[in-house]
Amino acid sequence: MHIARTRDELRALLADLPVRALVPTMGALHEGHLALVAAARRRGPVIASIFVNPTQFAAGEDLSRYPRDEAGDLDALRGAGCEVAFLPDVTEMYPNGHATAIEVLGPALRWEGARRPTHFRGVATVVARLFGLTQPGTAWFGEKDWQQLQVVRRMTRDLALGVEIAAMPTVRDADGLALSSRNRYLSADQRALAAELPRSCRAALAAMASGENRAAACAAARARLTHLGFAVDYLAVVHGDSLEPDPPAADPARLIVAAGLGTVRLLDNFPV
Ligand code: AMP
Repeated sequence: MHIARTRDELRALLADLPVRALVPTMGALHEGHLALVAAARRRGPVIASIFVNPTQFAAGEDLSRYPRDEAGDLDALRGAGCEVAFLPDVTEMYPNGHATAIEVLGPALRWEGARRPTHFRGVATVVARLFGLTQPGTAWFGEKDWQQLQVVRRMTRDLALGVEIAAMPTVRDADGLALSSRNRYLSADQRALAAELPRSCRAALAAMASGENRAAACAAARARLTHLGFAVDYLAVVHGDSLEPDPPAADPARLIVAAGLGTVRLLDNFPV
């Protein structure tokens, strides 16, 4: 596996990779990230980027304590058959004079976008720059971050960036909790309790499938999680692409949830 830390090093490597896939990450890699690399690899050589992007963190968020494990990540990427690891630093990604950001509306406005108003602008800007630097045929994203996936799809389409966006279903632990780099901040007790999040969502989905009103099923799941000690931020059925609430029954729909447990914000989502 080749390692590039600068744009020049990356450019030199790209000459030998005419068709390539990009897997953007923030590192602290787990099986969810590696599943993206494995899926991407079936279609050609893979460039995985590791960059903890400061512009998608607001002041007071966990930028400085975001988990970092470069040696472990490089071993994991090697094991997964990644061709190029791109590890830029902040000055490579935001060189002096950097003065452009992508304003994202539509699917970026609600939910995570309302709670973290500059988050998706930071995500979109860094993803667009990564597309520019790596010029991939395909870029892979996890369904774990459903709203992010829709924002990236929308930006790629609206700006005609010419990259195919491919999605990977969420990889979960045996008890159903979605893998996330931030799960390591859960205490043992919180980690055991965290499995109630997907469990409650699945119970709500089962209730909907047997005819219960969507809003009532969501309210029941929310009440159950709150009772268990979660700080539920939102738990709602939304349109699968636009993220608008209360989609018509015939439209693609997604149950999305964000809930705090201690200091950790857990995100998950499920097809309805
Ligand atoms: P992150 O490092 O958290 O920015 O994630 C990098 C990519 O991996 C994003 O496209 C995520 O959606 C994806 N990802 C993170 N966790 C999972 C998971 N449990 N299953 C599938 N994809 C994931």
